[in-house]
Amino acid sequence: MMMGYLLARAGVDVLVLEKHADFLRDFRGDTVHPSTLEVMCELGLLDEFLKRPHQKVRQLTGYVGREPITVADFSHLSLHCPFIALMPQWDFLNFLAEQGRRYPAFNVRMQAQVTDLIVEGGSVVGARAQTPEGPLEVRADLVIGADGRHSTVRERAGLKVQNLGAPIDVLWLRLSRRADDPEQSAGRFDAGRILVMINRGDYWQCGFVIPKGAIDDIRRKGLESFREEISTIAPFVRDRVDELHSWDDVKLLTVVVDRLRRWYRPGLLCIGDSAHAMSPVGGVGINLAIQDAVAAANILADPLREGRVTMTHLRQVQRRREFPTRVTQRLQVFVQDRVISRVLAGRRQLSLPWLLRLLRRVPLLQRIPARLVGVGIRPEHVRLPVARPPTS
Ligand SMILES: Cc1cc2nc3c(=O)[nH]c(=O)nc-3n(C[C@H](O)[C@H](O)[C@H](O)COP(=O)(O)OP(=O)(O)OC[C@H]3O[C@@H](n4cnc5c(N)ncnc54)[C@H](O)[C@@H]3O)c2cc1C
Repeated sequence: MMMGYLLARAGVDVLVLEKHADFLRDFRGDTVHPSTLEVMCELGLLDEFLKRPHQKVRQLTGYVGREPITVADFSHLSLHCPFIALMPQWDFLNFLAEQGRRYPAFNVRMQAQVTDLIVEGGSVVGARAQTPEGPLEVRADLVIGADGRHSTVRERAGLKVQNLGAPIDVLWLRLSRRADDPEQSAGRFDAGRILVMINRGDYWQCGFVIPKGAIDDIRRKGLESFREEISTIAPFVRDRVDELHSWDDVKLLTVVVDRLRRWYRPGLLCIGDSAHAMSPVGGVGINLAIQDAVAAANILADPLREGRVTMTHLRQVQRRREFPTRVTQRLQVFVQDRVISRVLAGRRQLSLPWLLRLLRRVPLLQRIPARLVGVGIRPEHVRLPVARPPTS
């Protein structure tokens, strides 16, 4: 959606195909990072964006056992918004779609599920989609695969995937929120359990982290035992775990960490999770997807407008974004293997590891994870002309 917005704003005709009828999906994160907010500022959208309901997270807090610990402090970042804006991603996407519609070149087609690519003479020249009205064929100078971690586009393009391994999955569930609950979204770590709780106003969006493949075992033990797991790690929700009536209230989100060796072929480019599926660790995948879109639009807008996109341009996009992706994924895999897997395998009460004790003793150090999570490596800036004034 961001890529579509940026290109249309620069005067390139765009059609965004989205398989769902709306953006009300729960499978995405809610984090809009300081660097994404900086992009919104560069686009002149920030004030309007911040009018939408959101919560400002200035510090990332976790609990190890019962001990609270601040892991990252964003308040010192020298950006327009030194905080993470927590906003359900459907609000973010609706906002971008609304802003995009102000440009004549921007088009979105909902309920259009891409099923295949149109290939002629070895080049991708369009995509085929399924819609409620029947099959749709779209021809384009460039097809951009931005269809997430189970990307059809990259699969149909035959691009080679390198799997980096994810030893975890996430069980996604909601519990109501009461006035006297804690205010802050936080991750809770205890022996054998990790629960991430995101404050969405009147309810908690919860992510219960499990070892990959453990879902059958958890189901076998029964819902009551699962409710007890949740109550043990977050005792203040014990009075409402009965809201989980059946396993239908608990969704399995599979975690994938992988990367394409080549993100492009003639007529086609993949960005975001389609090029490099991100782990939820650090909550940075949305930011990377947005940064890819900005970099790709900066490089491609002029050649697209002039109908002269070549493999060199597509290669430039991968060159620009591969390094930040590699470093971020390496860090995610490190945390998955060295921290999360060990916590999940542990049976004894957790004590604060030395690194977290150091962060507590020297708060200045909290600025390092804040920079890594909030800004990331090689942040992108919008360098695009506005081709046509927006329609009101
Ligand atoms: C459990 C979990 C929690 C996470 N939490 C966070 C977090 O808090 N913060 C964070 O930054 N990252 C988080 N991530 C990572 C983040 O979700 C992704 O990195 C990010 O959403 C990637 O954005 P994207 O636009 O590339 O793909 P997506 O957000 O997956 O968007 C892909 C879009 O393409 C559509 N689509 C898919 N297939 C087709 C098709 N064939 N035709 C048409 N449309 C199609 C989908 O409906 C969707 O709208 C989490 C990941 C997981 C697994």
